[in-house]
Amino acid sequence: MVIKKLAEKYNLKRPEVKTVEGKIDGYYVNITDDNVVKKYYITFNVSGITDKKEFEKFLKELEDKNSSVWDVKHEKNYIIVEISYKKAGLSHFKELDEIIEKIIGFFKEKNYKSGCGYCGLEDAKNIEIVKIVDDRVHICENCFSKEKRRLDERREELLNTKENIFLGILGSLAGSIIGGLTNYFMVFSLVGLLTIVLSQILYNILAKKTSWFGVVFSTVTAMVCAFGGYYLKHSDGTLIINDQVYVGTGFILIVGIVLGIFMKKVSKGDYLVIEKLYKN
Ligand SMILES: [Zn+2]
Repeated sequence: MVIKKLAEKYNLKRPEVKTVEGKIDGYYVNITDDNVVKKYYITFNVSGITDKKEFEKFLKELEDKNSSVWDVKHEKNYIIVEISYKKAGLSHFKELDEIIEKIIGFFKEKNYKSGCGYCGLEDAKNIEIVKIVDDRVHICENCFSKEKRRLDERREELLNTKENIFLGILGSLAGSIIGGLTNYFMVFSLVGLLTIVLSQILYNILAKKTSWFGVVFSTVTAMVCAFGGYYLKHSDGTLIINDQVYVGTGFILIVGIVLGIFMKKVSKGDYLVIEKLYKN
C-alpha cells in the first residue's frame, strides 16, 4: 500500500489504515488515501509566507505541471493537494513521493514554517492532530477551543430551531407533485428517486428541521405522488401494475428512510464533531 510505504520512508504514524501523518522535515503533514473517490489528499501546514504571489504561483505550477494533481487548495495556514489515482501513473508511490519532495523542497528553500493549520502559530508544543467534521488537521490548543465553541454554538442553534411542520408539509407536497409529474418523461425508478429526494429536501429546507414526522410524511407523500403520476399517465386504459411499479415504490420507501434518517441527523447537527486524536 502506497501510504504505508510513505509512512515508512518519512517516519510517519499510521493511526488508521487509510491515513498517515506526522512531520516531514518539520512540516506537519497528513496523507489520506480515499479509495471511494480514488484520490489521495496530501495536507501540509505552512505559514510564514512573505511573498504571497510567489507562493500562489508555485501552487499553480504544481497543479499545471503534474498531470496527477487534480486540485490544490490553500486554506488558512495549510494546503491540500488532491491527487487522482487514475493519472498517477504506474507507481503511485513514486508520483506521490515526487510531489512531496517538490513541496518540501520549495518550502525549505523559501524558509516557510509549519505551525497550527488554522492560525499559523508555530508553537509546536500545543499542536495536535484534530478531527473536525470529516477532516484531520494539525491545530493549536487555542484554535481547538475556538472551533469547539463555534461547533457547539451551531449545534445549540440547530437544537433550538423549531420545526415548521406546516411549511414542511407544503414543501414535501410540492416536491412530490413535481416529481410525480415527471412520469410523463422518465422511467418509473428515476421518477421515484427524484420524487423522494425533492420531497425530503424541500421538507427539510422549509421546515428548517426534519423529525420522524417529516421522514414518514415525505416518504409516504413521495410514494403516493410517484404512483399518482404513473396512474395519470396511464389513465387512458393502459394502466398495468407491473413489477416495475412495485420495485419503484419499494425503492422510494428505502431511499426515503435512509435519506430521512440522514436529514434528521443533519438537522440535529450530529455531524458537527470535533475531537483531539493524539499528540504528535
Ligand atoms: Zn491555532
